[in-house]
Amino acid sequence: MNQQRIAIIGAGISGLACAAELVKSGFEVSVFDKSRGVGGRMSHRYFQEWGADHGAQYFTVKDERFSDELKKWQAAGVVEAWNGKIVSFDHGNVTDLKKETHRYVGVPTMSAPAKYLAESLNVSLLNTITELKHQKPQRGSKNKNGTWQLVSKEHGLLPQEFDHVVLAIPSPQAKVLIGEHSDQLTETCDQVVMLPCWTLMAYLKNPLNLLFDGAFVENHLFSWMARDSNKPGRSPYESWVAQASSAWSLEHIDLSQTEAEMLLLEGFKELTGVECDLYQTHLWRYSRLETPSETNFVLDTYMNMSVCGDWLRNSTVEGAWMSGHALAQRLSLMGSIDTL
Ligand SMILES: Cc1cc2nc3c(=O)[nH]c(=O)nc-3n(C[C@H](O)[C@H](O)[C@H](O)COP(=O)(O)OP(=O)(O)OC[C@H]3O[C@@H](n4cnc5c(N)ncnc54)[C@H](O)[C@@H]3O)c2cc1C
Repeated sequence: MNQQRIAIIGAGISGLACAAELVKSGFEVSVFDKSRGVGGRMSHRYFQEWGADHGAQYFTVKDERFSDELKKWQAAGVVEAWNGKIVSFDHGNVTDLKKETHRYVGVPTMSAPAKYLAESLNVSLLNTITELKHQKPQRGSKNKNGTWQLVSKEHGLLPQEFDHVVLAIPSPQAKVLIGEHSDQLTETCDQVVMLPCWTLMAYLKNPLNLLFDGAFVENHLFSWMARDSNKPGRSPYESWVAQASSAWSLEHIDLSQTEAEMLLLEGFKELTGVECDLYQTHLWRYSRLETPSETNFVLDTYMNMSVCGDWLRNSTVEGAWMSGHALAQRLSLMGSIDTL
């Protein structure tokens, strides 16, 4: 059994996939997240009786390894196929999509697979890691590269020591924590651009009279809209999510919430012809990666520190899961970290 201690910062799908695989290989893993719940950008917001997935909308599956994971999630009842009608929508003109795509969603909300993975892991929530402290190796210590301790906004210096730290968080946030510790990982972070997304979540008293459940919107400030209440296991209240394009979001990133809200509500009315009865907006500052890559993860073997996440592959649930899983497999193959 491998008793190496690994800290994973970020309980999104990449961090959880990495943790689950490492635990299987006998590592002692602790996951930390600043939020109230797990799932990161696979999240759902509840507003009294209605709610909506306001990050990832659905996911698709290409790789066999992720397909095996999907089967486990389906068997556990936390994922189902979403068979809603998805179209292309351009100023009132609806065009069916040519390609048949199998889409899946978490049930009852998008965060369900993350919650399922977290059940068997040691996850500490409401723990915002603000600094990583490296202790040089003690004379005669088994660990030749020293150990790590974490500082959290809520709890100060955490008592546990770790042999390796994984940053499973978006690149700009990872860069802050990497600080002076690793030029290699800082350079990796500098190479990627993450784009924002302004999102509108809307509740409507009366069902929208549109002939689809999800649409790739063309030539508009929104690039995607979906009837969230059409997804399996959701509350019956008519709720919609509309996501602004990366270009529009970037152009309007400095707007206040109130200013953005006005424009998003106007945009929704223009598209659908109706006013939202209740609504919420959210800015995802690091929504998605600009240019996909095949990197998967980067490991600084000297510092015993690594990065994974969608931004090292592509901004999909599958891409994030594959990245975390690949890093865990690499660390497991290397065996005991103090022999690196
Ligand atoms: C608006 C939007 C729409 C999307 N639509 C789709 C889609 O339809 N299909 C699809 O497949 N994908 C979609 N995606 C992409 C998908 O959600 C992401 O690629 C994936 O969820 C990223 O997972 P991750 O683990 O890499 O990162 P994240 O999910 O971002 O997880 C990182 C975690 O780290 C935590 N964290 C950050 N900093 C710290 C810190 N200092 N201390 C502690 N914790 C910290 C965060 O709270 C978060 O939980 C969408 C994303 C967005 C934002």
